[in-house]
Amino acid sequence: MRIILATSNQGKVKEFQSWIKEYEVEPFSSVMEPFEIEENGTTFKENALIKARAVFEKLEDKSAIVLSDDSGISVPILGGIPGIYSARYAGITASSQENLHKLIQTLKEHHLHSTPAFYTAAIALVCAKGEFCVHGWMYGTAINEARGDNGFGYDPMFIPEGFTQTLGELDESVKKSLSHRARALELAHLMLKSLQ
Ligand code: IMP
Repeated sequence: MRIILATSNQGKVKEFQSWIKEYEVEPFSSVMEPFEIEENGTTFKENALIKARAVFEKLEDKSAIVLSDDSGISVPILGGIPGIYSARYAGITASSQENLHKLIQTLKEHHLHSTPAFYTAAIALVCAKGEFCVHGWMYGTAINEARGDNGFGYDPMFIPEGFTQTLGELDESVKKSLSHRARALELAHLMLKSLQ
């Protein structure tokens, strides 16, 4: 089974290749001219489906499955921010560091030292048999400081449920076992098997 990833982010490509070892996984940029996909959905699910659908429509080999993901962190007490805007919270060209520091700053402005938060990952699969989407979540606490260098994005300010250290401080293997993406991928795996 051939799987095309609707992302050209090398980090994501590597991560998916290491998780879905038994299938041939290629980024869409290796089978077509890369193009911008406007993520104008209002949910993680919509954005993941928009990306996968856009690539599937341009794909010549309709026997392949296009897979995409959309993810982010949400802080419920602040109305769910940054949510689907996680990657561009501090601006369209913002770096991960800038996004992290903006969220820390926002917690401080609201006098929040720590507050419940969660990560969401939506994984969409689009193929000749239809469109599918699965989710995974990781619950925990967002704190108003950055601790540790592991992981990426908002990890230095996120303490997963059952731990006292941030994902920036915890070993990467901990995150790999309980992350939102790992949980969504487990379900995506089952979907892929049933689509074979
Ligand atoms: P996407 O590439 O559109 O899915 O954007 C995901 C954004 O959400 C990233 O740029 C990060 O800011 C944030 N994010 C998603 N998953 C994680 C994670 O596992 N750790 C830290 N930040 C994450």
